[in-house]
Amino acid sequence: MGLVVQKYGGSSVADAEGIKRVAKRIVDAKKNGHQVVVVVSAMGDTTDELIDLAEQVSPIPAGREFDMLLTAGERISMALLAMAIKNLGHEAQSFTGSQAGVITDSVHNKARIIDVTPGRIRTSVDEGNIAIVAGFQGVSQDKKDITTLGRGGSDTTAVALAAALDADVCEIYTDVDGVFTADPRVVKKARKIDWISFEDMLELASSGSKVLLHRCVEYARRYNIPIHVRSSFSGLQGTWVSNEPIQQGDQKVEQAIISGVAHDTSEAKITVVGVPDKPGEAAVIFRAIANAEINIDMVVQNVSAASTGLTDISFTLPKTEGRKAIDALEKAKTAIGFESLRYDDQIGKISLVGAGMKTNPGVTAGFFEALSDAGVNIELISTSEIRISVVTRADDVNEAVRAVHSAFGLDSDSDEAVVYGGTGR
Ligand code: ADP
Ligand code: ASP
Ligand code: MG
Repeated sequence: MGLVVQKYGGSSVADAEGIKRVAKRIVDAKKNGHQVVVVVSAMGDTTDELIDLAEQVSPIPAGREFDMLLTAGERISMALLAMAIKNLGHEAQSFTGSQAGVITDSVHNKARIIDVTPGRIRTSVDEGNIAIVAGFQGVSQDKKDITTLGRGGSDTTAVALAAALDADVCEIYTDVDGVFTADPRVVKKARKIDWISFEDMLELASSGSKVLLHRCVEYARRYNIPIHVRSSFSGLQGTWVSNEPIQQGDQKVEQAIISGVAHDTSEAKITVVGVPDKPGEAAVIFRAIANAEINIDMVVQNVSAASTGLTDISFTLPKTEGRKAIDALEKAKTAIGFESLRYDDQIGKISLVGAGMKTNPGVTAGFFEALSDAGVNIELISTSEIRISVVTRADDVNEAVRAVHSAFGLDSDSDEAVVYGGTGR
């Protein structure tokens, strides 16, 4: 029996009862002969509550202090979980990200893992302990400051530790039975996926399916760590995310043409109005945004009006970066020479994902027809080889997701999509 890494999300450890339930599951894995390393998130909505608190004290909190605050959430759950396991008669030790050897760059609030040196974790499990590691946090290589990996970052901690410890599998325990063809909170008839390739999962995750974080999937693909996403509330098999299809009976699970529909309401749209239509303008705009360390998503440039020689450039970005982006553009106003800026955070994005798109004509047409039948107006469009995304009004998103899900025959016959916990926040 080898080593397993299990990650429990916030909804799985939302209260004392949840922590005790999870402790039993962990002990069962240990009793089955595995060495067990557990990565745990903050309890319930603790991280959101800490963010709210910080914003009451300071509208733009300093990155270093913000990270110090947020990592407190995972410290609480890791210590409580270790206590609950000891109470069941098993040895457990908790470790902060820094103690576990999670080394990051120094970009506060969205640090990247650059190395994992899990010596203490290895020693702890070799001595017979269950090691509990605080997710979502690390320590910066240069300044030795505490960092966080961005929202949902515990998924990445789990996969990074699994890679560094050469684990057999990384199990991600959450509040639904696996990865579904759409968010089960929005589509009751969403279908559980038995196996999905890293490629399609990466695209779903970066399009907003927060059941797995895209950086975690990226990491798993790079080190070829199979992920098993499953519920901590049921004993069901979940979804395997890996390179090679899993075996079911004497057959391999087939790659679906369409893996699923993702949606995202965490982005905003900025329109730079009245930009001179000449070479180099877009370069200056996006250099200003890049210098502010902001990642953007979609970009469109309108045709310029012949009479004025001016055009508009729109792009989407995380809402949390909206203010920073506006400030950066205002500062570069003379260099760019635009007329005004428009900020719109009432948008949503819907994406259809599937490797089969490459070889099946008509997917794009079917997608637009479904949106049109649902009366949804499209504001921006972007595509990759295996994804098509549109931006709409935020109010239209749920309806649009359901319409596209049905139109592509993804609805299941039974209402199998159970949501066991969490607030969906
Ligand atoms: P955790 O606290 O365990 O990390 P998250 O809230 O981050 O849980 O992720 C689980 C949630 O992801 C589910 O409750 C569900 O609402 C949402 N979700 C979005 N898209 C999907 C999908 N395609 N399949 C399953 N869950 C999804
Ligand atoms: N607690 C952090 C968050 O809510 C990290 C995580 O749960 O993965 O984003
Ligand atoms: Mg999560």
